[in-house]
Amino acid sequence: MDMDENQKIPGEKIASIEEYLPGDNTFEDNDSIRATTIGEINLDSSERSASINRQTQITVPKVGDIIIGVVEANLPSMIAISIKFVNGRKVNSDLECICVTRHIRKKNIALAKDVVKAEIISHINGTIHATIDSPELGVLFTKCRKCFGTVVKMRDAVKCKDCGWIDDRKLSTEFGKSDFLE
Ligand SMILES: [Zn+2]
Repeated sequence: MDMDENQKIPGEKIASIEEYLPGDNTFEDNDSIRATTIGEINLDSSERSASINRQTQITVPKVGDIIIGVVEANLPSMIAISIKFVNGRKVNSDLECICVTRHIRKKNIALAKDVVKAEIISHINGTIHATIDSPELGVLFTKCRKCFGTVVKMRDAVKCKDCGWIDDRKLSTEFGKSDFLE
């Protein structure tokens, strides 16, 4: 996850009680001041207060949320997705989620730059995990791996309209139906 160092998430320690007083959107937990909301940390040394500024709030998808994003990295056992939409609403954060794909019996599950639909399944140690296993989840938009041409769905695979190359993907049942992206 590539988050700004100043961006804090709920529960994260932002300061210690010896140095600061708990300000807006924070709570005291033993010796720590922790964030109650997502936002930017604001350490005011004259007031000695530590608070979180909610104006810069970003949307972190919850378990069960449906996201649409762009594949940033395509690794042998997982894909990394840059999240662009959460439950149909555009988000302006650079949050990434990881989707384990090693159990999916396809050679090319999704390529880098493909648009995919995924469901958030967990947050573990600051990493957001998602799945594309259900039929409606998976690739919404892709291009030909050989010539970057336009592809059409052919049963479980895609076929390039330009060069005829047939390739597999973990396609969403909504492949080709989305009109949110060119
Ligand atoms: Zn092609």
